[in-house]
Amino acid sequence: MDYDAALDVALNRLHDEGRYRTFIDIERRRGKFPHATWVRPDGTERDITIWCGNDYLGMGQHPEVLAAMHEALDTTGAGSGGTRNISGTTVWHKRLETELADLHRKEAALVFSSAYVANDTTLSTLRVIFPGLIIYSDELNHNSMIEGIRRFQGPKRIFRHSDLAHLRELLAADDPAVPKLIAFESIYSMDGDIGPIKEICDLAEEFGAMTYLDEVHAVGMYGPRGAGVAERDGQMHRIDMINATLGKAFGVFGGYIAASAKMVDALRSYAPGFIFTTSLPPAVAAGAATSVRILKTAQHLRDAQQMNARILKARLKGLGLPIIDHGTHIVPVHVGNPVHCKMLSDMLLEQYGIYVQPINFPTVPRGTERLRFTPSPVHDARQIDSLVKAMDALWRQCALNRAEASA
Ligand SMILES: *Cc1c(COP(=O)(O)O)cnc(C)c1O
Repeated sequence: MDYDAALDVALNRLHDEGRYRTFIDIERRRGKFPHATWVRPDGTERDITIWCGNDYLGMGQHPEVLAAMHEALDTTGAGSGGTRNISGTTVWHKRLETELADLHRKEAALVFSSAYVANDTTLSTLRVIFPGLIIYSDELNHNSMIEGIRRFQGPKRIFRHSDLAHLRELLAADDPAVPKLIAFESIYSMDGDIGPIKEICDLAEEFGAMTYLDEVHAVGMYGPRGAGVAERDGQMHRIDMINATLGKAFGVFGGYIAASAKMVDALRSYAPGFIFTTSLPPAVAAGAATSVRILKTAQHLRDAQQMNARILKARLKGLGLPIIDHGTHIVPVHVGNPVHCKMLSDMLLEQYGIYVQPINFPTVPRGTERLRFTPSPVHDARQIDSLVKAMDALWRQCALNRAEASA
């Protein structure tokens, strides 16, 4: 076996399809976000504005969050020193879980290395806890849920995206006595559309199913205390398990599940992705807890984010650009071709210092490649203006190129 040749084939396939991924090296600077420095491969630097970050509210540089991290670091040291079971449960972890349980008005919460791990290990473990369980999963669920459901190895039903009639049909076709779980998201991050939470809870009630909701792209940003869309819509008490991240709007790192005390007790005891891994560094837990606490009352940040998203969408629409608008903070601009998408992204970066990563397959379906902008409260009017002008210029330039190519 020529392993090198196999690697070449695999990598060339990505190049041929125009979806070979290049990461750009950036250096964020405290107190300056969304400004950052791009360090090019040759070592030269350029100032850029980040327009595709998931530190949605700029909490990654909040002075109180940083102070809490410094304090924990200086009092307790770097790492936690073990798995949660073996010496890795500290007061910092307990405080964070208490803060999260309170956020979602649940009895308990359990912190994982990331929301990816939380989704993957929770969903794949549920079969052990609920023998015979069937999982109903939205077709556009995040990869972390798909992987968890794949490894769960029990029966699964994939329903068309947010299609209640299809979900009902699938639920009705199964034995009423069998345990069931409906897994879905509140905000689907690539289109920015919102799942029908109330209606899915109604179906769950009717068919005796549990509900599992990924609020990764909503926590901190929706609901009067930043607990997510289920909170905003008055449905939070109807969700059995809420999954979210501490790494996006909360600006730090880690993931969690909020649920009943018994559910958390069972997951704590059975989920390998919780049991067999070192717990978060205490400083990370301290920073995350502080961020969660601050955002419980920081409505002004949520309002400013929504305002900036509305302004950016209105201005891009005004230019006739194909915006996908579902009324959330995510601003996707449809490009529909991986090569053009990458090219636009490269030009924005090189010519305008605007950093927006191209979103290509398999993150989104082929033919729906896009640029996905994430305005935050810390993007100012001037930065929005520069982005709009750059998009206007590039769109004209690229449309011209396309016309020439097809002529
Ligand atoms: C990013 C993401 C996750 C994973 O969160 P991490 O904490 O970054 O691992 C889970 N679900 C969705 C929908 C996401 O976009």
